[in-house]
Amino acid sequence: MRAWLAAAAAAVSLGAAAEPNLSLDIRLDPATREFSAVAELVRPPRDFQFTPHASLSVRGVTRTRSGVMRIEYGGILAPLDRNIDFRGVLQALPPMASSQGSFLGAASGWYPQAWPLFTYRVRLRVNGKQKALVPGRLISETTRNDSYEATFEYEAPAEGIDLMAGPYGVREKLAPLPDGRRVRLRTYFYPELGSLADAYLDDSARYIERYSRTIGPYPFSEFSVVASPLPSGFGMPTLTYIGAQVLKLPFIRATSLGHEVLHNWWGNGVLVDYAGGNWSEGLTTFMADYAYKEAESPQAARGARLAWLRDLAALPAGAQRPLAAFRSRAHGADAVVGYGKSAMLFLMLRDAIGEDAFALGIRRFWRENSFRLASWEELLEAFEYASGRDLAPFFRQWLTRAGAPSVRLVSAFASKTGITLSFEQSAPAYALRLPVEFILDNKSETRWVEIDREKQAVTLQFKDTPQAVRLDPELRVWRLLEREELPPILRQWIVARSPALMRVSPVGTALAKRLFESPFREVENLINDPVLIIGLHKDVDAALKRLKLPPRPAMLAGKGTAQVWTIIGSAIAVISAKDEPSLEAISRPLPHYGSQSWLAFDGARVIERGAWPPTARAVPVTK
Ligand SMILES: [Zn+2]
Repeated sequence: MRAWLAAAAAAVSLGAAAEPNLSLDIRLDPATREFSAVAELVRPPRDFQFTPHASLSVRGVTRTRSGVMRIEYGGILAPLDRNIDFRGVLQALPPMASSQGSFLGAASGWYPQAWPLFTYRVRLRVNGKQKALVPGRLISETTRNDSYEATFEYEAPAEGIDLMAGPYGVREKLAPLPDGRRVRLRTYFYPELGSLADAYLDDSARYIERYSRTIGPYPFSEFSVVASPLPSGFGMPTLTYIGAQVLKLPFIRATSLGHEVLHNWWGNGVLVDYAGGNWSEGLTTFMADYAYKEAESPQAARGARLAWLRDLAALPAGAQRPLAAFRSRAHGADAVVGYGKSAMLFLMLRDAIGEDAFALGIRRFWRENSFRLASWEELLEAFEYASGRDLAPFFRQWLTRAGAPSVRLVSAFASKTGITLSFEQSAPAYALRLPVEFILDNKSETRWVEIDREKQAVTLQFKDTPQAVRLDPELRVWRLLEREELPPILRQWIVARSPALMRVSPVGTALAKRLFESPFREVENLINDPVLIIGLHKDVDAALKRLKLPPRPAMLAGKGTAQVWTIIGSAIAVISAKDEPSLEAISRPLPHYGSQSWLAFDGARVIERGAWPPTARAVPVTK
């Protein structure tokens, strides 16, 4: 164990017995942004010095004989800047206050952090009709006419403390757990979100139950969904802090909420030993976002895998880094690896060892590592225990190598001994377990083959000789896709460097401004760069005919109030609406659907969507 870790663990066990390591007494007036605090640290490291954020200053430090360091400090916080965009939110923000909402992030220097891991108790007092909270167990609270007071305790090792306050209405529900305990669920919402509170509470309960059953009992006593004035999506122990605008989007409850709930196990229950890379985003994506797609349909799950592999294909070779180097999402390139590749690693692992061993490995990893720091090493140990196999080569290859193999099924040859498949892959070779689909008339059968050389032949026996063979048509392996395996999706237009707009009706400029990330120009004819055709239904149909393009897809015709599709084999996407308001209605949601090839909207609501099926190359079986 690293030295600082041992020190942290010792500090935690000292604190857990009786007193928390850190006690904070906080007063905040959001309207004036006045902040004052008293911190008490039990036996902090001898050389510890508190350097608060520049907006705060230390007013006094005393040390008692029993080793308690008492710090009084305070100041006027920065005003909350609501104009911070999503990328800005991810950077370290100063502690900020306002009547609409206050956010004092863990890394912003609003409290003395003397240990990398510690336990705490925080007493919060805010003026006005406000509520305030930090992660942890709610010990007590008092609401008065013009102030609010609450005390929270966090007994597990914490990595930091985020403080949130706002003019919230609180809705509460007690949810029973499989082990008989009850979890206090809360929403801290602005009045305009009130109608969504019950749905968020019910869905939170559902997710907590689900993961309590599959992993192990929910490790905390509460879970809250807190509305943020910023366009954020933070997961913290016992709560998630999500932008108020984002909370209104229908897919948040179906995906992001479950993801954030699951982080109470992965990331906050088992802490990430960052020195060895961040495994928690991939595991959380696999067991939340991806699992929900699997529950929806095989097509939806395949779509998720295609999205990961498409992102990989779009990544310049120079931007590729090993998964073991992933710490957190700072760039899109990191997300491709830290979320997509990592989730795919767990999928390939489950495919290899089977669902039962995978489920056992998950439970063991939790049991052995809860409230401790864990790395990929501990995951490897748990899955080796569960499967009885040596998985080190598998983990080593997918964690330490950047990029992905490029593998091709070159030929399939039938003879008396069976069907011989010839594979080629980029050097140096990976050890790969590949699904191969054998097609005979209208039937197909999938078998798994293993290769570990740059050129390799594998022979399989069949009763009836198949006519054709396809390599990994369901996209279950982390690999570089071939060109024909990548159908066009809207993101290619959204992120295009020099997109063009072709308006076939006098509408659509505002929508294009919202959709394209780069400046666009208007064109009257088709060009080589990505073109977006926008118009009303009749004009669009006429234009497609005039331009000799395929007509409106039959499966979209007549659906909803607006339709969007990309044209296979071209750089053309089409947006067609019943009328101008229908077009305006989709301008806000549409940019969120970059991974789709086609959509139908009813007003602002998506009623159907999908990606064109890629055509995995069928290799004929020769004799
Ligand atoms: Zn996450």
